[in-house]
Amino acid sequence: MNRLIKQGSRSDEVLDVQTRLRALGYSVEDEPGWFGESTRAAVRAFQQRRSMLVDGIVGPQTWSQLVEASWRLGDRTLYLKNPYMRGDDISTLQSRLNALGFDAGREDGIFGPLAYEAIRAFQREYGIPEDGMFGQHTFAALSGLRVDRPGTAAELREELRHRSDRALAGALVMIDPGHGAGDPGELGSSGLTETEVCWRLATLLAERLVAAGARVRLTRTEPENPDNSERATRANDIGADLFVSLHLNANQEPTAEGASAYHFGTSRAGKAIAEAIQDQLVKLGARDCRVHARSFALLRETRMPAVMVEPAFITNPDESKRLENHDHLVGVSDAIVAGIREFYNQPH
Ligand SMILES: [Zn+2]
Repeated sequence: MNRLIKQGSRSDEVLDVQTRLRALGYSVEDEPGWFGESTRAAVRAFQQRRSMLVDGIVGPQTWSQLVEASWRLGDRTLYLKNPYMRGDDISTLQSRLNALGFDAGREDGIFGPLAYEAIRAFQREYGIPEDGMFGQHTFAALSGLRVDRPGTAAELREELRHRSDRALAGALVMIDPGHGAGDPGELGSSGLTETEVCWRLATLLAERLVAAGARVRLTRTEPENPDNSERATRANDIGADLFVSLHLNANQEPTAEGASAYHFGTSRAGKAIAEAIQDQLVKLGARDCRVHARSFALLRETRMPAVMVEPAFITNPDESKRLENHDHLVGVSDAIVAGIREFYNQPH
């Protein structure tokens, strides 16, 4: 699905989108196959619910979310394969296993090694042949069980890990400078690129975190540009305690300005770190564009508390000018460090 399906289209693809939206409980009044106002409203409601960018257009990302959302637990056999299987049936499975005390990881709808191990542990305990696959027998066993305990093992794990690493000193922080070779990101009016600001900010931030006693790694070298899943994998592979991704915001409207921070929807620690950093950026004088839950691959696939920070709009001429100023970037990186410190010092 590479074409954009949007208002005014008439096609079988539109019909497919409408059928999926209806099955998910959204009301679509338009004539079948015609993308009218009502289909657009349903797409927007779906995007809002999934913490996606709300534009009412079905592009590749919204399409894959629609497909993922359509899976119900028991519809298909789930198992570990490459690339990982994805879908809402998997987040349901993760939440049920977590509620039972089997650590299936963050409820992100991705069937990874943790889900595989959790199913094996479940099968072991319930006397089902231990193959790590979620098929009919395991479904039947799981369906017969009550899972209504509040607070899941995955949340608990994230919290315990956070608590045991209370000090910033010794923590392993993964910094992710946005974009990279061949991808400048957004552009400022003077020719400043998002990627060069992110790189400068990342190096300043790294210096300061090291001075505070943290261990620091970057997701990429300067001439690289790994995709977002690869960046998340690199953070997971080194067992980072915290993930901080740096980007800049952009808007067609040059007066748009301010700082924002993003976390994965169900990550409490992610939300706490996003809020702590956002507070500091606002103290520094940025307009408060708030903290938002998002399902970006970076935030979704990282297994540690993760935040994406956008300290300014590169498309705003004043902010863009400030981003060219070394002292200002030092101020921004100090604010991010202050937010991280605050996060580690919070009572839990
Ligand atoms: Zn960016």
